[in-house]
Amino acid sequence: MNCTLCPVKCGADREKHAGACGTRGITVAKYYLHPFEEPCLSPGGKSGAIFFGGCSLRCVFCQNYELSRAKRGKEVTPRELADIFRELEDMGAENLDLVTPDHISPLLAEALSLYRPKVPVIYNSSGYAEVSALKEIAPFVDVWMPDLKFVSPALSERYTGRRDYFEAASKALSFMAEKPVVWEGGRLLSGILVRHLVLPACTADGKRALDFLHAVLPPEAPLSLMRQYVPMGEAEKYPELRRRVTDREYSRLLGYAASLGFRTVYAQDRESAEESFVPQWDF
Ligand code: SF4
Repeated sequence: MNCTLCPVKCGADREKHAGACGTRGITVAKYYLHPFEEPCLSPGGKSGAIFFGGCSLRCVFCQNYELSRAKRGKEVTPRELADIFRELEDMGAENLDLVTPDHISPLLAEALSLYRPKVPVIYNSSGYAEVSALKEIAPFVDVWMPDLKFVSPALSERYTGRRDYFEAASKALSFMAEKPVVWEGGRLLSGILVRHLVLPACTADGKRALDFLHAVLPPEAPLSLMRQYVPMGEAEKYPELRRRVTDREYSRLLGYAASLGFRTVYAQDRESAEESFVPQWDF
């Protein structure tokens, strides 16, 4: 069957070969208790992260470049993935954090129907997703955690080759934002948390992203402004991407989020922009 799961709609017959996202089925490059997710998701620093290979959105600066290009990872079946869910829970995971799930979401739904964890399931997405695919996996998701990377079509085309990023992501995030937000003792148990990775020389587009988020998100939904960008992947080919984000750029976006009235904004300090924070892949 020709795959049209994500907005790329490349039409690959994934029974036979990989699509533009780089994989036929599920590949896992690492699973472990990840200490660096937002505190409302894992106050004890034990996020049950599973990093999947492949990606339908190929950012030139991808901070997990080897993964998104499907150069790492071992193939697993939905049954084997369900066993990984159980293993992470037994290790004390506070959630299941499905990292880059969009190109394999039906298989993830199959795994989650085989074993439904007791901890919240987090759908950690680029935001470049089809609403029809999100609706299929929605019954298994507790917290949507999409990125909103760009608003400008020119910018998304330059950095991902996809001019329609915001067109697709705005629909996807609007759908995700409908999920009721549930907090319990400082933990986000249900709803949506949006991440925006602050990029060098992109403050104006970042402000437009915040305007959109302020318009569609429920007021109690948290926002994460990430400053962990380090030049990786193909970033060296883009002169403006060869540096880290400055204090001024980051504080301008933080200040703008405050001026819009976001209630909960997670910020990162300058030291988070280090390659040492990128996980080492196991498979
Ligand atoms: S999920 Fe992969 S195979 Fe399917 S349309 Fe998107 S890029 Fe193509």
